[in-house]
Amino acid sequence: MEDLQRTLAPTGLSVSTTPEKGRCLNTTRNFSPGEVIITEEPYVCVPNNSSESKCDGCFKSVNLKKCSACQVPWYCGSTCQKSEWKLHRLECQALAGLNKERRKSLTPSLRLMVRLYLKRKLQNEQVFQTTATDNYNLVEALVDHMSDIGEKQLVLYAQMANLVNLVLEWPNSNIKEIAQNFSKLACNAHTICDSELRPLGTGLYPVISIINHSCSPNAVLVFEGRRAVVRAVELIPQGTEVFISYVETAESTAARQKALKEQYFFTCSCPYCRKGIYMEVQESAILEGYRCKTDKCNGFLLRDSDDRGFVCQTCGLVRSKEEILKISADVKQREDQASQFLSSGNCLEASVAYRNVEQLQLRLCHPFSINLMRTRESLLKILMELEDWRGALAYCRYVISAYQRVYPEIHPLVGLQYYTCGKLAWFLGDTEDAIKSLTKAVYVLQTTHGTNTPFMRDLLVRLDEARAEAGSQASTWKKL
Ligand SMILES: [Zn+2]
Ligand SMILES: [Zn+2]
Ligand SMILES: [Zn+2]
Ligand SMILES: [Zn+2]
Repeated sequence: MEDLQRTLAPTGLSVSTTPEKGRCLNTTRNFSPGEVIITEEPYVCVPNNSSESKCDGCFKSVNLKKCSACQVPWYCGSTCQKSEWKLHRLECQALAGLNKERRKSLTPSLRLMVRLYLKRKLQNEQVFQTTATDNYNLVEALVDHMSDIGEKQLVLYAQMANLVNLVLEWPNSNIKEIAQNFSKLACNAHTICDSELRPLGTGLYPVISIINHSCSPNAVLVFEGRRAVVRAVELIPQGTEVFISYVETAESTAARQKALKEQYFFTCSCPYCRKGIYMEVQESAILEGYRCKTDKCNGFLLRDSDDRGFVCQTCGLVRSKEEILKISADVKQREDQASQFLSSGNCLEASVAYRNVEQLQLRLCHPFSINLMRTRESLLKILMELEDWRGALAYCRYVISAYQRVYPEIHPLVGLQYYTCGKLAWFLGDTEDAIKSLTKAVYVLQTTHGTNTPFMRDLLVRLDEARAEAGSQASTWKKL
Protein backbone atom coordinates (compact mmCIF):
# COMPACT_ATOMS: atom_id res chain seq x y z
CA MET A 1 0.00 0.00 0.00
CA GLU A 2 2.85 2.46 0.86
CA ASP A 3 4.55 1.44 -2.37
CA LEU A 4 1.40 2.21 -4.27
CA GLN A 5 1.00 5.60 -2.54
CA ARG A 6 4.59 6.50 -3.44
CA THR A 7 4.02 5.56 -7.10
CA LEU A 8 0.73 7.43 -7.34
CA ALA A 9 1.89 10.59 -5.53
CA PRO A 10 3.75 12.21 -8.48
CA THR A 11 0.66 11.70 -10.72
CA GLY A 12 -1.52 13.72 -8.33
CA LEU A 13 -3.35 10.80 -6.71
CA SER A 14 -3.58 9.24 -3.27
CA VAL A 15 -5.49 6.35 -1.70
CA SER A 16 -7.43 6.73 1.53
CA THR A 17 -9.59 4.32 3.51
CA THR A 18 -12.94 5.01 5.14
CA PRO A 19 -14.99 2.58 7.25
CA GLU A 20 -18.12 2.90 5.06
CA LYS A 21 -16.58 2.76 1.61
CA GLY A 22 -13.25 1.01 2.07
CA ARG A 23 -10.52 2.34 -0.19
CA CYS A 24 -10.99 5.55 -2.19
CA LEU A 25 -8.88 7.18 -4.92
CA ASN A 26 -8.43 10.94 -4.36
CA THR A 27 -6.84 13.78 -6.27
CA THR A 28 -4.00 15.85 -4.83
CA ARG A 29 -4.13 18.33 -7.74
CA ASN A 30 -6.71 19.61 -10.21
CA PHE A 31 -7.62 17.45 -13.21
CA SER A 32 -9.22 19.18 -16.18
CA PRO A 33 -11.97 17.61 -18.34
CA GLY A 34 -10.51 15.04 -20.74
CA GLU A 35 -7.28 14.67 -18.74
CA VAL A 36 -6.06 11.13 -18.07
CA ILE A 37 -6.23 10.39 -14.34
CA ILE A 38 -4.76 6.90 -14.39
CA THR A 39 -4.02 4.08 -16.84
CA GLU A 40 -3.40 0.43 -16.07
CA GLU A 41 -2.53 -2.74 -17.94
CA PRO A 42 -4.57 -5.75 -16.77
CA TYR A 43 -3.09 -8.00 -14.10
CA VAL A 44 -4.68 -10.77 -16.16
CA CYS A 45 -7.29 -10.74 -18.91
CA VAL A 46 -9.07 -13.02 -21.36
CA PRO A 47 -11.14 -12.45 -24.52
CA ASN A 48 -14.86 -13.27 -24.24
CA ASN A 49 -16.66 -16.19 -25.84
CA SER A 50 -18.58 -14.51 -28.65
CA SER A 51 -19.24 -16.04 -32.05
CA GLU A 52 -16.23 -14.13 -33.34
CA SER A 53 -12.90 -15.47 -32.02
CA LYS A 54 -10.34 -12.93 -30.80
CA CYS A 55 -6.57 -12.75 -30.48
CA ASP A 56 -5.44 -13.38 -26.90
CA GLY A 57 -2.88 -10.59 -27.22
CA CYS A 58 -4.73 -7.66 -28.82
CA PHE A 59 -8.38 -8.87 -28.88
CA LYS A 60 -8.60 -8.23 -32.63
CA SER A 61 -10.39 -10.69 -34.91
CA VAL A 62 -8.22 -10.65 -38.04
CA ASN A 63 -5.93 -13.37 -39.46
CA LEU A 64 -6.33 -15.62 -36.47
CA LYS A 65 -4.48 -18.89 -35.91
CA LYS A 66 -4.99 -21.26 -32.99
CA CYS A 67 -2.19 -22.32 -30.66
CA SER A 68 -1.28 -25.64 -32.28
CA ALA A 69 -0.32 -27.31 -29.00
CA CYS A 70 -3.41 -26.75 -26.83
CA GLN A 71 -5.97 -25.58 -29.44
CA VAL A 72 -7.43 -22.95 -27.08
CA PRO A 73 -6.17 -19.40 -27.66
CA TRP A 74 -6.09 -17.62 -31.03
CA TYR A 75 -3.36 -15.22 -32.15
CA CYS A 76 -3.31 -12.63 -34.94
CA GLY A 77 0.38 -13.21 -35.58
CA SER A 78 3.76 -13.99 -34.06
CA THR A 79 4.04 -10.62 -32.26
CA CYS A 80 1.00 -11.28 -30.08
CA GLN A 81 1.86 -14.96 -29.68
CA LYS A 82 5.36 -14.06 -28.48
CA SER A 83 4.19 -11.35 -26.10
CA GLU A 84 1.72 -13.82 -24.53
CA TRP A 85 4.05 -16.79 -24.47
CA LYS A 86 5.58 -16.31 -20.99
CA LEU A 87 2.16 -16.75 -19.43
CA HIS A 88 0.66 -19.05 -22.02
CA ARG A 89 3.62 -21.48 -21.85
CA LEU A 90 2.39 -22.72 -18.46
CA GLU A 91 -1.26 -22.41 -19.41
CA CYS A 92 -0.59 -24.34 -22.61
CA GLN A 93 0.96 -27.26 -20.71
CA ALA A 94 -2.01 -27.37 -18.35
CA LEU A 95 -4.59 -27.14 -21.16
CA ALA A 96 -2.86 -29.67 -23.41
CA GLY A 97 -3.24 -32.26 -20.65
CA LEU A 98 -7.05 -31.95 -20.62
CA ASN A 99 -9.33 -34.13 -22.70
CA LYS A 100 -11.14 -32.50 -25.61
CA GLU A 101 -14.51 -32.22 -23.87
CA ARG A 102 -13.05 -30.50 -20.83
CA ARG A 103 -11.03 -28.12 -22.97
CA LYS A 104 -14.17 -27.12 -24.87
CA SER A 105 -16.05 -26.44 -21.64
CA LEU A 106 -13.41 -23.99 -20.45
CA THR A 107 -15.26 -20.67 -20.00
CA PRO A 108 -13.51 -17.28 -20.04
CA SER A 109 -13.99 -16.98 -16.24
CA LEU A 110 -12.24 -20.30 -15.67
CA ARG A 111 -9.40 -19.27 -17.95
CA LEU A 112 -9.11 -15.92 -16.19
CA MET A 113 -8.77 -17.68 -12.85
CA VAL A 114 -6.19 -20.15 -14.17
CA ARG A 115 -4.20 -17.21 -15.53
CA LEU A 116 -4.47 -15.35 -12.22
CA TYR A 117 -2.73 -18.24 -10.45
CA LEU A 118 -0.14 -18.70 -13.20
CA LYS A 119 0.70 -15.00 -13.11
CA ARG A 120 1.12 -15.12 -9.33
CA LYS A 121 3.42 -18.16 -9.65
CA LEU A 122 5.49 -16.49 -12.38
CA GLN A 123 5.82 -13.31 -10.33
CA ASN A 124 6.88 -15.34 -7.30
CA GLU A 125 9.52 -17.04 -9.45
CA GLN A 126 10.53 -13.61 -10.80
CA VAL A 127 9.87 -14.65 -14.40
CA PHE A 128 7.56 -11.64 -14.42
CA GLN A 129 8.64 -8.40 -12.83
CA THR A 130 6.73 -7.19 -9.78
CA THR A 131 6.01 -3.47 -9.46
CA ALA A 132 4.05 -1.24 -7.09
CA THR A 133 1.06 -1.31 -9.47
CA ASP A 134 1.46 -4.87 -10.76
CA ASN A 135 1.60 -7.43 -7.96
CA TYR A 136 -0.59 -10.05 -6.35
CA ASN A 137 -0.87 -8.13 -3.06
CA LEU A 138 -3.14 -5.69 -4.87
CA VAL A 139 -5.37 -8.59 -5.90
CA GLU A 140 -5.34 -9.84 -2.34
CA ALA A 141 -6.51 -6.43 -1.12
CA LEU A 142 -9.69 -6.50 -3.26
CA VAL A 143 -13.02 -7.03 -1.50
CA ASP A 144 -14.67 -10.42 -2.06
CA HIS A 145 -18.08 -10.05 -0.32
CA MET A 146 -18.08 -13.77 0.54
CA SER A 147 -20.39 -13.14 3.51
CA ASP A 148 -23.01 -11.49 1.24
CA ILE A 149 -23.20 -14.34 -1.27
CA GLY A 150 -26.10 -16.79 -1.30
CA GLU A 151 -25.73 -20.54 -0.80
CA LYS A 152 -26.33 -21.35 -4.46
CA GLN A 153 -23.65 -18.97 -5.68
CA LEU A 154 -21.17 -20.35 -3.12
CA VAL A 155 -21.76 -23.88 -4.43
CA LEU A 156 -21.21 -22.66 -7.98
CA TYR A 157 -17.95 -20.94 -7.04
CA ALA A 158 -16.78 -24.10 -5.27
CA GLN A 159 -17.53 -26.15 -8.40
CA MET A 160 -15.66 -23.67 -10.56
CA ALA A 161 -12.75 -23.74 -8.12
CA ASN A 162 -12.60 -27.53 -8.49
CA LEU A 163 -12.40 -27.19 -12.26
CA VAL A 164 -9.55 -24.68 -11.93
CA ASN A 165 -7.83 -27.14 -9.63
CA LEU A 166 -8.22 -29.89 -12.24
CA VAL A 167 -6.57 -27.67 -14.84
CA LEU A 168 -3.70 -26.52 -12.65
CA GLU A 169 -3.02 -29.93 -11.03
CA TRP A 170 -1.03 -28.29 -8.25
CA PRO A 171 -0.39 -30.53 -5.23
CA ASN A 172 -1.53 -28.10 -2.53
CA SER A 173 -4.15 -25.85 -4.11
CA ASN A 174 -6.48 -24.07 -1.75
CA ILE A 175 -10.00 -24.63 -3.18
CA LYS A 176 -11.52 -22.23 -0.69
CA GLU A 177 -9.17 -19.46 -1.74
CA ILE A 178 -9.91 -20.07 -5.44
CA ALA A 179 -13.65 -19.86 -4.73
CA GLN A 180 -13.05 -16.64 -2.84
CA ASN A 181 -11.17 -15.27 -5.83
CA PHE A 182 -14.15 -16.04 -8.10
CA SER A 183 -16.21 -13.91 -5.79
CA LYS A 184 -13.55 -11.19 -6.07
CA LEU A 185 -13.66 -11.31 -9.86
CA ALA A 186 -17.45 -11.03 -9.84
CA CYS A 187 -17.35 -7.63 -8.16
CA ASN A 188 -13.97 -6.32 -9.33
CA ALA A 189 -13.22 -7.51 -12.88
CA HIS A 190 -13.99 -5.08 -15.70
CA THR A 191 -15.52 -5.78 -19.10
CA ILE A 192 -12.98 -4.68 -21.68
CA CYS A 193 -14.72 -2.85 -24.55
CA ASP A 194 -13.57 -1.39 -27.84
CA SER A 195 -13.83 2.36 -28.51
CA GLU A 196 -17.47 1.93 -29.51
CA LEU A 197 -18.22 0.15 -26.22
CA ARG A 198 -18.68 -3.31 -27.73
CA PRO A 199 -17.53 -5.91 -25.18
CA LEU A 200 -14.35 -7.82 -26.08
CA GLY A 201 -13.26 -9.55 -22.91
CA THR A 202 -12.69 -9.38 -19.18
CA GLY A 203 -9.71 -8.06 -17.25
CA LEU A 204 -8.63 -7.54 -13.67
CA TYR A 205 -7.28 -4.04 -12.96
CA PRO A 206 -6.56 -4.03 -9.22
CA VAL A 207 -5.54 -0.35 -8.99
CA ILE A 208 -8.48 0.96 -10.99
CA SER A 209 -10.70 -1.29 -8.83
CA ILE A 210 -9.94 1.11 -5.96
CA ILE A 211 -12.09 3.75 -7.70
CA ASN A 212 -15.57 3.85 -6.16
CA HIS A 213 -18.92 4.16 -7.88
CA SER A 214 -21.17 7.17 -8.32
CA CYS A 215 -24.32 7.38 -10.46
CA SER A 216 -23.15 10.87 -11.42
CA PRO A 217 -19.42 10.18 -11.84
CA ASN A 218 -16.66 12.76 -12.41
CA ALA A 219 -14.58 10.30 -14.48
CA VAL A 220 -15.07 7.65 -17.14
CA LEU A 221 -13.30 4.36 -17.82
CA VAL A 222 -12.54 3.44 -21.44
CA PHE A 223 -10.10 0.97 -22.97
CA GLU A 224 -7.35 1.42 -25.52
CA GLY A 225 -6.75 -2.17 -26.57
CA ARG A 226 -6.41 -3.96 -23.22
CA ARG A 227 -5.12 -0.91 -21.36
CA ALA A 228 -7.68 0.73 -19.08
CA VAL A 229 -7.77 4.54 -19.17
CA VAL A 230 -9.67 6.70 -16.69
CA ARG A 231 -10.35 10.29 -17.79
CA ALA A 232 -11.94 13.23 -16.00
CA VAL A 233 -15.28 14.23 -17.56
CA GLU A 234 -15.44 17.46 -15.58
CA LEU A 235 -13.01 19.63 -13.65
CA ILE A 236 -11.94 17.57 -10.62
CA PRO A 237 -10.47 19.91 -8.02
CA GLN A 238 -7.57 18.93 -5.78
CA GLY A 239 -8.71 16.92 -2.76
CA THR A 240 -11.72 15.28 -4.45
CA GLU A 241 -12.59 11.61 -4.66
CA VAL A 242 -12.52 10.13 -8.18
CA PHE A 243 -15.67 8.22 -9.21
CA ILE A 244 -16.65 6.11 -12.20
CA SER A 245 -20.00 4.41 -12.77
CA TYR A 246 -20.22 0.62 -12.36
CA VAL A 247 -23.70 0.36 -13.88
CA GLU A 248 -25.88 1.82 -16.62
CA THR A 249 -26.92 5.24 -15.29
CA ALA A 250 -29.95 5.81 -17.55
CA GLU A 251 -32.22 3.69 -15.33
CA SER A 252 -34.35 4.97 -12.46
CA THR A 253 -32.80 5.29 -9.00
CA ALA A 254 -34.57 2.14 -7.82
CA ALA A 255 -33.29 0.15 -10.82
CA ARG A 256 -29.71 1.42 -10.39
CA GLN A 257 -29.71 0.68 -6.69
CA LYS A 258 -31.00 -2.82 -7.32
CA ALA A 259 -28.28 -3.51 -9.88
CA LEU A 260 -25.57 -2.19 -7.54
CA LYS A 261 -26.86 -4.20 -4.60
CA GLU A 262 -27.08 -7.41 -6.63
CA GLN A 263 -23.64 -7.27 -8.18
CA TYR A 264 -21.60 -5.08 -5.83
CA PHE A 265 -23.40 -5.50 -2.51
CA PHE A 266 -23.75 -1.88 -1.48
CA THR A 267 -26.47 0.74 -1.27
CA CYS A 268 -25.44 3.76 -3.28
CA SER A 269 -25.67 7.05 -1.43
CA CYS A 270 -24.22 9.30 -4.11
CA PRO A 271 -25.75 12.81 -4.44
CA TYR A 272 -27.68 11.67 -7.52
CA CYS A 273 -29.29 8.78 -5.61
CA ARG A 274 -30.14 11.00 -2.63
CA LYS A 275 -31.90 13.38 -5.00
CA GLY A 276 -33.46 10.36 -6.73
CA ILE A 277 -34.94 8.94 -3.54
CA TYR A 278 -36.57 12.28 -2.82
CA MET A 279 -38.01 12.41 -6.34
CA GLU A 280 -38.32 8.66 -6.78
CA VAL A 281 -42.07 8.32 -7.24
CA GLN A 282 -42.14 10.91 -9.99
CA GLU A 283 -38.88 9.72 -11.55
CA SER A 284 -39.95 6.09 -11.90
CA ALA A 285 -43.45 7.13 -13.05
CA ILE A 286 -41.76 8.94 -15.92
CA LEU A 287 -39.02 6.44 -16.77
CA GLU A 288 -41.00 3.24 -16.17
CA GLY A 289 -44.65 4.33 -16.05
CA TYR A 290 -47.51 5.13 -18.41
CA ARG A 291 -48.56 8.05 -20.58
CA CYS A 292 -51.62 10.27 -20.22
CA LYS A 293 -54.78 9.35 -22.09
CA THR A 294 -54.53 12.45 -24.27
CA ASP A 295 -51.59 12.89 -26.61
CA LYS A 296 -51.16 16.56 -25.80
CA CYS A 297 -50.47 16.00 -22.11
CA ASN A 298 -46.99 15.01 -20.85
CA GLY A 299 -48.12 14.37 -17.27
CA PHE A 300 -47.00 11.29 -15.39
CA LEU A 301 -49.44 8.74 -13.98
CA LEU A 302 -49.76 7.32 -10.50
CA ARG A 303 -51.96 4.45 -9.29
CA ASP A 304 -55.23 5.81 -7.86
CA SER A 305 -56.13 5.11 -4.24
CA ASP A 306 -58.77 2.40 -4.91
CA ASP A 307 -56.47 0.68 -7.43
CA ARG A 308 -58.81 0.84 -10.42
CA GLY A 309 -56.49 2.72 -12.68
CA PHE A 310 -53.78 5.32 -13.11
CA VAL A 311 -54.35 9.05 -12.71
CA CYS A 312 -52.52 11.74 -14.68
CA GLN A 313 -50.89 14.07 -12.18
CA THR A 314 -51.19 17.02 -14.58
CA CYS A 315 -54.74 16.87 -16.00
CA GLY A 316 -56.42 14.32 -13.73
CA LEU A 317 -57.60 11.94 -16.48
CA VAL A 318 -57.74 8.26 -15.49
CA ARG A 319 -56.55 5.28 -17.55
CA SER A 320 -58.17 2.00 -16.59
CA LYS A 321 -56.07 -0.83 -15.25
CA GLU A 322 -57.59 -3.21 -17.82
CA GLU A 323 -56.49 -1.09 -20.75
CA ILE A 324 -52.94 -0.78 -19.37
CA LEU A 325 -52.73 -4.53 -18.70
CA LYS A 326 -54.02 -5.33 -22.18
CA ILE A 327 -51.46 -3.17 -23.99
CA SER A 328 -48.66 -4.36 -21.67
CA ALA A 329 -49.49 -7.98 -22.54
CA ASP A 330 -49.44 -7.10 -26.26
CA VAL A 331 -46.06 -5.41 -25.87
CA LYS A 332 -44.66 -8.46 -24.10
CA GLN A 333 -45.93 -10.81 -26.80
CA ARG A 334 -44.56 -8.71 -29.67
CA GLU A 335 -41.25 -8.26 -27.89
CA ASP A 336 -40.84 -12.03 -27.51
CA GLN A 337 -41.66 -12.42 -31.19
CA ALA A 338 -39.17 -9.70 -32.16
CA SER A 339 -36.31 -11.18 -30.17
CA GLN A 340 -37.05 -14.63 -31.60
CA PHE A 341 -36.79 -13.22 -35.14
CA LEU A 342 -33.59 -11.50 -34.15
CA SER A 343 -31.94 -14.56 -32.65
CA SER A 344 -32.79 -16.57 -35.76
CA GLY A 345 -31.12 -13.86 -37.85
CA ASN A 346 -34.32 -12.66 -39.50
CA CYS A 347 -33.69 -8.91 -39.35
CA LEU A 348 -36.49 -7.88 -41.67
CA GLU A 349 -39.22 -9.63 -39.63
CA ALA A 350 -37.56 -8.39 -36.44
CA SER A 351 -37.72 -4.79 -37.67
CA VAL A 352 -41.46 -5.15 -38.38
CA ALA A 353 -42.06 -6.69 -34.96
CA TYR A 354 -40.04 -4.01 -33.14
CA ARG A 355 -41.93 -1.28 -34.98
CA ASN A 356 -45.13 -2.86 -33.65
CA VAL A 357 -43.65 -2.82 -30.16
CA GLU A 358 -42.72 0.84 -30.64
CA GLN A 359 -46.27 1.77 -31.74
CA LEU A 360 -47.76 0.01 -28.72
CA GLN A 361 -45.25 1.63 -26.36
CA LEU A 362 -46.06 5.05 -27.78
CA ARG A 363 -49.66 4.43 -26.68
CA LEU A 364 -48.69 2.87 -23.38
CA CYS A 365 -45.57 4.52 -21.97
CA HIS A 366 -44.66 8.02 -20.89
CA PRO A 367 -42.85 9.74 -23.80
CA PHE A 368 -39.59 9.70 -21.77
CA SER A 369 -39.86 5.96 -21.13
CA ILE A 370 -36.67 3.91 -20.87
CA ASN A 371 -38.40 0.93 -22.50
CA LEU A 372 -39.31 3.00 -25.54
CA MET A 373 -35.69 4.20 -25.70
CA ARG A 374 -34.46 0.58 -25.59
CA THR A 375 -36.87 -0.44 -28.39
CA ARG A 376 -35.58 2.40 -30.55
CA GLU A 377 -31.96 1.41 -29.81
CA SER A 378 -32.79 -2.10 -31.05
CA LEU A 379 -34.50 -0.71 -34.15
CA LEU A 380 -31.47 1.45 -34.90
CA LYS A 381 -29.18 -1.59 -34.74
CA ILE A 382 -31.47 -3.70 -36.93
CA LEU A 383 -31.93 -0.97 -39.55
CA MET A 384 -28.14 -0.55 -39.75
CA GLU A 385 -27.90 -4.30 -40.24
CA LEU A 386 -30.50 -4.04 -43.04
CA GLU A 387 -28.57 -1.10 -44.54
CA ASP A 388 -31.69 1.06 -44.37
CA TRP A 389 -29.60 4.20 -43.77
CA ARG A 390 -32.45 6.68 -43.90
CA GLY A 391 -34.50 4.71 -41.41
CA ALA A 392 -31.44 4.28 -39.19
CA LEU A 393 -30.77 8.04 -39.21
CA ALA A 394 -34.34 8.75 -38.06
CA TYR A 395 -33.96 6.32 -35.14
CA CYS A 396 -30.50 7.62 -34.35
CA ARG A 397 -32.08 11.05 -33.80
CA TYR A 398 -34.80 9.60 -31.55
CA VAL A 399 -32.15 7.85 -29.50
CA ILE A 400 -30.03 11.01 -29.21
CA SER A 401 -32.95 13.02 -27.90
CA ALA A 402 -33.66 10.31 -25.31
CA TYR A 403 -29.96 10.16 -24.33
CA GLN A 404 -29.93 13.91 -23.81
CA ARG A 405 -32.53 13.44 -21.09
CA VAL A 406 -30.99 10.46 -19.31
CA TYR A 407 -27.23 11.06 -19.61
CA PRO A 408 -25.02 14.02 -18.75
CA GLU A 409 -23.70 16.12 -21.64
CA ILE A 410 -20.29 14.42 -21.57
CA HIS A 411 -21.03 10.69 -21.75
CA PRO A 412 -19.44 8.16 -24.15
CA LEU A 413 -22.82 6.87 -25.35
CA VAL A 414 -23.96 10.39 -26.27
CA GLY A 415 -20.75 11.04 -28.23
CA LEU A 416 -20.92 7.66 -30.00
CA GLN A 417 -24.53 8.24 -31.00
CA TYR A 418 -23.62 11.64 -32.51
CA TYR A 419 -20.80 9.89 -34.37
CA THR A 420 -23.23 7.35 -35.87
CA CYS A 421 -25.63 10.17 -36.75
CA GLY A 422 -22.81 12.09 -38.47
CA LYS A 423 -21.65 9.05 -40.45
CA LEU A 424 -25.21 8.32 -41.62
CA ALA A 425 -25.88 11.93 -42.63
CA TRP A 426 -22.55 12.05 -44.50
CA PHE A 427 -23.37 8.81 -46.29
CA LEU A 428 -26.81 10.15 -47.28
CA GLY A 429 -25.22 13.31 -48.70
CA ASP A 430 -26.40 15.76 -46.05
CA THR A 431 -23.05 17.47 -45.50
CA GLU A 432 -24.29 20.24 -43.26
CA ASP A 433 -26.01 17.83 -40.90
CA ALA A 434 -22.96 15.57 -40.93
CA ILE A 435 -20.73 18.47 -39.86
CA LYS A 436 -23.11 19.38 -37.02
CA SER A 437 -23.27 15.84 -35.67
CA LEU A 438 -19.56 15.06 -36.11
CA THR A 439 -18.64 18.33 -34.37
CA LYS A 440 -20.81 17.33 -31.42
CA ALA A 441 -19.26 13.84 -31.44
CA VAL A 442 -15.76 15.35 -31.30
CA TYR A 443 -16.81 17.70 -28.50
CA VAL A 444 -17.95 14.78 -26.30
CA LEU A 445 -15.51 12.05 -27.32
CA GLN A 446 -12.32 14.11 -27.07
CA THR A 447 -13.09 14.32 -23.36
CA THR A 448 -14.07 10.67 -22.83
CA HIS A 449 -11.72 9.04 -25.37
CA GLY A 450 -8.82 11.54 -25.68
CA THR A 451 -7.64 12.59 -29.14
CA ASN A 452 -4.78 10.26 -29.83
CA THR A 453 -6.28 6.83 -30.59
CA PRO A 454 -6.87 5.43 -34.11
CA PHE A 455 -10.61 5.64 -33.40
CA MET A 456 -10.47 9.36 -32.62
CA ARG A 457 -8.08 10.14 -35.48
CA ASP A 458 -10.63 8.48 -37.78
CA LEU A 459 -13.39 10.69 -36.43
CA LEU A 460 -11.30 13.85 -36.85
CA VAL A 461 -10.45 12.90 -40.45
CA ARG A 462 -14.15 12.41 -41.24
CA LEU A 463 -14.97 15.82 -39.82
CA ASP A 464 -12.20 17.43 -41.89
CA GLU A 465 -13.51 15.70 -45.02
CA ALA A 466 -17.05 16.90 -44.36
CA ARG A 467 -15.81 20.46 -43.82
CA ALA A 468 -13.73 20.36 -47.02
CA GLU A 469 -16.75 19.09 -48.94
CA ALA A 470 -18.92 21.88 -47.51
CA GLY A 471 -16.21 24.40 -48.48
CA SER A 472 -16.12 23.21 -52.08
CA GLN A 473 -19.93 23.22 -52.25
CA ALA A 474 -19.95 26.82 -51.02
CA SER A 475 -17.41 27.94 -53.62
CA THR A 476 -19.41 26.23 -56.39
CA TRP A 477 -22.44 28.24 -55.26
CA LYS A 478 -20.45 31.47 -55.50
CA LYS A 479 -19.36 30.66 -59.07
CA LEU A 480 -22.97 29.97 -60.07
ZN1 LIG B 1 -3.08 -9.88 -31.64
ZN1 LIG C 1 -1.38 -23.37 -26.24
ZN1 LIG D 1 -25.99 6.49 -6.80
ZN1 LIG E 1 -52.73 14.34 -18.54
